[in-house]
Amino acid sequence: MSQLSGQRKRDQTVLSATAVTVVSIFSVAVIVSQAPPPPNVLLITIDTVRADHLGAYGYARAATPVLDRLAREGVRFSDATTQAPLTGPAHAALLTGLYPARIGVRDNATTPVPESVTTAAEIFKARGYRTGGFVGAFILTAPYGFAQGFDTFDADFPGFSDGLKLQVQRRGDAVVDAAVRWLDQGKGSDTIQGVRPFTFAEPFFAWVHLYDAHAPYDPPAPFAARFKAAPYDGEIAYVDACIGRLIAALERTGRLDRTLVAVVADHGESLGEHGEQEHGMFLYDEVLRIPWIMRLPARAHAGVTIAEQVRAIDVLPTLTAVAGIPMGRVDGESVAGLMEGKARRDPPSSYAETFYPKWHYGWSELKSIRGDRRKYVEAPKPELYDLRADPAERSNVAAERGTLVAGMAGELARIAAGFGAAATTDAPKPDADTLARLRSLGYVGMAAPSTVAGRGPDPKDMIAGAETFRSGISRAMDALARDQPAAAIAQLKQLLTINDRSYELHLFLGDAYTATRQFDNALGEYAAARLLNPRSAAPPLSAARAYLAQGDTTRARQQADEAAAIEPGSGDVSVVRGMIEERAGRTTEAIAAYTAAVRANGSDPQARARLASLAMRARLFDIAHPQFEALLRMGYRPSRMHFGLAQIAEAKDDKARAIAEYREAIRLEPSFTDARTALARLGG
Ligand SMILES: [Zn+2]
Repeated sequence: MSQLSGQRKRDQTVLSATAVTVVSIFSVAVIVSQAPPPPNVLLITIDTVRADHLGAYGYARAATPVLDRLAREGVRFSDATTQAPLTGPAHAALLTGLYPARIGVRDNATTPVPESVTTAAEIFKARGYRTGGFVGAFILTAPYGFAQGFDTFDADFPGFSDGLKLQVQRRGDAVVDAAVRWLDQGKGSDTIQGVRPFTFAEPFFAWVHLYDAHAPYDPPAPFAARFKAAPYDGEIAYVDACIGRLIAALERTGRLDRTLVAVVADHGESLGEHGEQEHGMFLYDEVLRIPWIMRLPARAHAGVTIAEQVRAIDVLPTLTAVAGIPMGRVDGESVAGLMEGKARRDPPSSYAETFYPKWHYGWSELKSIRGDRRKYVEAPKPELYDLRADPAERSNVAAERGTLVAGMAGELARIAAGFGAAATTDAPKPDADTLARLRSLGYVGMAAPSTVAGRGPDPKDMIAGAETFRSGISRAMDALARDQPAAAIAQLKQLLTINDRSYELHLFLGDAYTATRQFDNALGEYAAARLLNPRSAAPPLSAARAYLAQGDTTRARQQADEAAAIEPGSGDVSVVRGMIEERAGRTTEAIAAYTAAVRANGSDPQARARLASLAMRARLFDIAHPQFEALLRMGYRPSRMHFGLAQIAEAKDDKARAIAEYREAIRLEPSFTDARTALARLGG
């Protein structure tokens, strides 16, 4: 075996000597033909940034010097629009050049970008680029198809914040730190400057996603103080500073002028216009219009502004065109020609859609088509706006302009008809863990998607209640998280007066009652939730928890069985079953249930922690050990995990390991008394 590999190694040495010769001949040829090296490509997507809140787009109160500079030294698209007002679908458009509906990506964190689709990273990787992705929100991670084609994909969320709350986003600084470390990789060593040569690994394609401008707006210092009255602008100023660090990293190493830097937003933010605070519900220009700025290698076309409408789906074809890379046909098209002053005879319209109102509130979905002058919104009450005369979209002229409406509706229908089988209108069903994360990002709904039949009401007729509802639920959930269930109950009861048909509302109210041990009230709320959404396992599962809290394992087991009948294979159901068996003193059955829960959802720390803790009590160290290790990797309560590993080592008479683990636990949590006592006992 080792002889064989030794032989192979010698063969490889011979081969690479030959390769070196070939390469040097080839390099000579390259020098002779003067072919320019392919440019690096840095794509920066800035979440939730309205075009009209940047200095380069005429906003007087902006503090966006970096983006303004990129616009001066590059090209600015003054009328860029997105295909969806939601992070996941909009990024799918940016990174594939396809309408998100064509690939079934119509909501956040549900249907992933399919493996069969060729993404930006896959295109560049196939041309020999080094590829790195760095994202700021869990919505854009590997389970949702966004890591395809990346050699390095950094979505390293520290795991847990606020005690046990799963982290769903991270600051731009953390994203940029990871990106700069990666950008600075190369061959050789620059530790002794000027002595050893250093070659950066080029060309590269990097995607950096900065989530900070998303609500809640709480910019870090010094932007918090500077933008006290306008915290959204403060977040954008912070994002601008983060981009500044990326640009500085390229400039410091002399790479900026051989890099195509593209900055584009996924969607804007309503900021109260048309009655919406954030984004997702509507297709007005405050969410559809996005900034798109490109600084080309060697500052080509510096200072050019392009007024013609361009689209999110045009971004990828444009990046590849500038890099000189051919790509297959997509829905978008390269707009690189516009930078050279070649206007198009018939610029395409921009199609957009949102299924957020339908799937989260039980209202109608919206679709729109935006031409160079007019926008048509397909809704139960259709809308038509003259964007030149009425850029704020205040005056709906659909009733007076029947012919125009018919024409634009026809164009919209033709585009939508081409989406094919992936564009089903069935609501995708995220798992419980994903739902909890989405809720902590503010994506809460009023109705169960599965109970909605037909088109539903027009979102513009419903928005006032929706905003009160959304902010009220956020406040109630904050109160619950801060252990103030009484405040949560008051808040949730108030919301019932707006809409008593939301199953989530009854579910949360039940949880608040359970937290105050008002079990009868809690069970009543869970029953109401179940009536409103019989297809969700959450209400019977919560009822099982409430019975368990009262020590009634028989009724708890009945409710858990009902939940299992609705959602067989659910990790949450298995966790609750494990808790019931544990309470009933049936250790073997409890271990089996927790193990099933871990298998169903390996990213659920609760299932792993319960399994580890019960296995420790049963002295089943071989079961506990891998759970502690996995939880450590997830960043879950590290001091406690090291303590568990120490106890296992101690039980196995590995004194040195036990001492090391206890010391680590104390280092991470100096006030950890049990760890100190144990360490003293071992004389460490
Ligand atoms: Zn977004």
